[in-house]
Amino acid sequence: MGRHKKTLLAVVFVVEPALLGDSGKHLPEKQAMTSEEKTRGQLMDELPDLRQRLPDPGEKRAEGAELNAILNAMSDYVCIIDGSHNIKYVNAVITRELGPVDNLKCFEYFHGLPEECPWCKNREVFSGATVRQDRYSSRTGKTYDVINTPLRNKDGSIDKLVILRDISERKRAEDELKQLSDELTRSNADLQQFAYAASHDLQEPLRVIAGFIKRLEKRYKDRLDEKAHEFIDYAVDGVRRVQMLIRELLAYSQVETKGRRFMPTNCAEVLEQALFSLHSAIEESGAEVTYDILPSIMADASQLSRLFQNLIGNAIKFRGKDLPRIHIAAEHRDNEWVFSVRDNGIGIDPKYFDRIFVIFQRLHTREEYDGTGMGLSICKKIVDRHGGKFWVESEPGKGSTFYFSIPDRQ
Ligand code: ADP
Repeated sequence: MGRHKKTLLAVVFVVEPALLGDSGKHLPEKQAMTSEEKTRGQLMDELPDLRQRLPDPGEKRAEGAELNAILNAMSDYVCIIDGSHNIKYVNAVITRELGPVDNLKCFEYFHGLPEECPWCKNREVFSGATVRQDRYSSRTGKTYDVINTPLRNKDGSIDKLVILRDISERKRAEDELKQLSDELTRSNADLQQFAYAASHDLQEPLRVIAGFIKRLEKRYKDRLDEKAHEFIDYAVDGVRRVQMLIRELLAYSQVETKGRRFMPTNCAEVLEQALFSLHSAIEESGAEVTYDILPSIMADASQLSRLFQNLIGNAIKFRGKDLPRIHIAAEHRDNEWVFSVRDNGIGIDPKYFDRIFVIFQRLHTREEYDGTGMGLSICKKIVDRHGGKFWVESEPGKGSTFYFSIPDRQ
């Protein structure tokens, strides 16, 4: 092998724990230098001299006193402990909060324990590993993110550098969030249970009631007067409405739990499906439905179809004196698609804009317009599940435009 023309020599200096006291100097951890013509041996001979002449590496470093000032201004705990649990250094925040060290061992000083803490990581750290842990301290009542790192001394011995950051606030927020999410999971399970009861247990007796009312009407048809027939109609209508409410509540409760995975979805096809389901309402009302070019998005196609059905169904139901004209459009804004369903119907007073999205809230009596007040709440839940927003712009007598956004995930 030929001789290298260039020799690269890496000189490594280690951080000395002593620099944290008032003695010692901070030496650069790593520096590299090159020499054009010198051999490795020559360079080794010149090393002490080279150290004197080393140029400023450009990096500004804190020296002992500065470093002390920095460490003492910090709110993190910084301490150095040796292999026999002796405390060699603590920064000011520690003594401020826990008092003087007074030659106490770390387990006595920090935890008031008579012997090594059961969670002590000395074995790992003194064999060279950095160990990180979250620890609650009964002395301070706080939780800390603790980093234990081996610190190699000049003489080859090892100390343990421990840095503790108070994360009590973050932990509290995390615990609160966890509690909230547990409550939500519980209440979702309750809702699921309710939905099951509503769909099976409640619908069955309703079917029995409806069946017997019909039999009553059939068998005693000739003996009942007009008033009795009217009452029977009310009863049948009541049952029909409760069934409708149960179906809608069930749909509402299942938006999250029974939702399908988001897949690439052709919105024009989904809209066509929705229009097909509404074809009799469209024909009866003479509605004219038009739409622009619609995009493909990541969505739950059956929920998107329900969304279009509810909005177009409402646009037909709440029509004005003119034939309903409904237009569906989509616009790309920032990172989302904003869809709109515009109609020329009766419109909505802006003071009711918030109310209409709440379950069972309606602005009309059943005599004026049939419905349960669940349609828009289901729409909102579907849009929420897709990570979008849902809103309306309208003026009484001038039609309404319902908007919903869906993040563009492609
Ligand atoms: P429902 O249609 O069963 O009443 P929704 O939740 O779908 O329930 O709508 C809530 C209310 O919002 C309706 O009762 C109606 O007053 C109003 N609304 C919804 N869509 C329209 C629309 N396109 N034009 C005018 N009013 C509307």
